[in-house]
Amino acid sequence: MLRLLIASLLSLVIAAPALAQPQKLRVIASFSILGDIVAQVGGEQVEVTTLVPAMGDAHVFQPTPSHARAVAGADVLVINGLNFEPWLDRLVTASGFKGRHVMAAEGIKPREMGGHGHAHHNHGPGDDDHDDHGVADPHVWHDLQRMQTYIANIAQGLAAADPAHAEAYRTRGAAYAAELKALDTWAAAEIGKLPRAHRKVITQHDAFGYLAARYRIDFMAAQGVTTKAEASAEAVGRLTRQIKREKVQALFFENIANPRLIEQIGREAKVKVGGRLYSDALSPPGGEADSFVKMYRLNITRLIEAMRRDN
Ligand code: ZN
Repeated sequence: MLRLLIASLLSLVIAAPALAQPQKLRVIASFSILGDIVAQVGGEQVEVTTLVPAMGDAHVFQPTPSHARAVAGADVLVINGLNFEPWLDRLVTASGFKGRHVMAAEGIKPREMGGHGHAHHNHGPGDDDHDDHGVADPHVWHDLQRMQTYIANIAQGLAAADPAHAEAYRTRGAAYAAELKALDTWAAAEIGKLPRAHRKVITQHDAFGYLAARYRIDFMAAQGVTTKAEASAEAVGRLTRQIKREKVQALFFENIANPRLIEQIGREAKVKVGGRLYSDALSPPGGEADSFVKMYRLNITRLIEAMRRDN
C-alpha cells in the first residue's frame, strides 16, 4: 500500500512538468524589423508583439492605451534606441512596465549626422554641412556588420530573462548572425560590380546612411534623419538640380512615406522612380518584405537594378 502510494506520488512528480504548458517569454519589440529579429533569435520560446506595425513610421508613431497595456503585460521590452522611438519613455512610464529592458543598439558606435533636416548628408568629408551638433543615426539595421551587435544584445537579453533557454537563444542567435553575414558578403560583391559613378540614390528621408557607408553609395534625401519635418521647397529644388547635374538615375519611394514628394522630384528632375525601398518597417505578413532578410535582399536587388542603368 505504502509502495503504491509512493509510486503514484512519484509518477505525479515526474508527470507534472510535462502537463504544464511551457510558458513563453512575452516580448515587446518597438517596431516590425526588430520584431522579426527577436522572433528569429527567440524561436518557439518567445511570443513577440510589435508596437509600430508593418509599414508604420516609428518617427511619428502615437501609442494608444492598448499599447500601454501590451507593454505592461510583457516580460521583456526590446527597443532600438538612439532616439528612434521618441515616444517610448512616456509609454513605458505610463504602462508601469517592470520587466527587462533590452536596447538593441547598446554598445554600437553610431554614425553621426547633422540632424536639422538638411537636404543631404552623405557626400563625405569636405561637404558643406558645417553642423557640429551631429545626432546619432538610428537606422543601424541597414548595416549588417553592426547588426551582429544587435543580435548579440537580443540573445543576451532573452537569455537573462529566461535562463532555462539561454543556450537555445545563443545557438539561434549565432545561426542568424551567420545568415546576415552571408547576406552582407553577397550585397558587397554585387554592388562592388557597379561603377562608382553609378552609385547615387535619392530617397525621401535619410534612412540609408549606414548602407551608403558600407557599400560606398551616395544617398541623398529630401528630408533629414527623421520624417517629422516637411521637406522645404528649397531642399526639393536643390535636390532636383543635383539630380540633373550628377545624372542620378536611382530615385525611390519608401514604404513608410507618402509617395507625393518623390513623385514631384521625379517629375521635376525627369527621372523615373525605381520603385519602393523598405526603410524603417517590414511589409505586412505574406508581403514581399515580411522578414528582415527578405527586406534587405529586396532593397539591395532594387538598388542594383536602378543603379545599373546607364546615365
Ligand atoms: Zn527613419
